[in-house]
Amino acid sequence: MKIAVYGKGGIGKSTTSCNISIALARRGEKVLQIGCDPKHDSTFTLTGFLIPTIIDTLQSKDYHYEDIWSEDVIHKGYGGVDCVEAGGPPAGAGCGGYVVGETVKLLKELNAFYEYDIILFDVLGDVVCGGFAAPLNYADYCLIITDNGFDALFAANRITASIREKARTHPLRLGGLVGNRTSQRDLINKYVEACPMPVIEVLPLIEDIRVSRIKGKTLFEMVGSEPSLNYVCEYYLDIADQILSQPEGIVPKEIPDRELFNLLSDL
Ligand code: ADP
Ligand code: MG
Repeated sequence: MKIAVYGKGGIGKSTTSCNISIALARRGEKVLQIGCDPKHDSTFTLTGFLIPTIIDTLQSKDYHYEDIWSEDVIHKGYGGVDCVEAGGPPAGAGCGGYVVGETVKLLKELNAFYEYDIILFDVLGDVVCGGFAAPLNYADYCLIITDNGFDALFAANRITASIREKARTHPLRLGGLVGNRTSQRDLINKYVEACPMPVIEVLPLIEDIRVSRIKGKTLFEMVGSEPSLNYVCEYYLDIADQILSQPEGIVPKEIPDRELFNLLSDL
């Protein structure tokens, strides 16, 4: 299964992705996480450092694919999760879609692309262009991370539109929304009433999740020394179990921008 995790910048995609990847590995899946955000810190809490990106490696080898080995680009992360960072195009130039395409091409040449039960693409979702939708060409299942606010739900609706569009030509499905860093869900509920899709989980703001980023560890690693954090891991295990049990998902239909403004501003 190829999963794309989308959502507005800073919403918690990478944090959630890393912990879901481990949860899936705990369930016996062989998992590769690919960071597709030019920020290239997707896998930071899995490896504890910023691994070299595919684009950096390709550049250092003058784009000679035959000189690149799996060990150059696939790094071992916590809990048996393998990690890749696609990297970004030069700032202000180039296309993120090209970077994702090159990443998949290289992983195929290394015979790594079909080796995994699950490949999870961690993708930024507030840039609306064809490049940002590129991982949807390779994914069959999407999750959207959102909070209970206008901006994240607006981004979620744009992502929904991209999924609907790509689903016309690919066997692509939306698994649903994961609410993050919020104890309220009234706007999330309003949105899914107007635009039906499952809400898989809603995680509150948890100080230890914020701290995990600073420590460069996932919650699953932190729980080793702090057993009281087990309840946080349960959220991610629950998401993993839903992914593994209901992979059919839905083809969503976004709502028009104007309608969304009215809905979320209570006009
Ligand atoms: P993104 O990948 O979407 O840009 P990150 O995963 O890097 O976002 O998260 C941004 C920040 O929010 C990080 O410092 C992270 O630790 C923090 N964070 C994410 N989810 C939560 C949460 N549920 N509770 C508290 N902090 C969180
Ligand atoms: Mg990120």
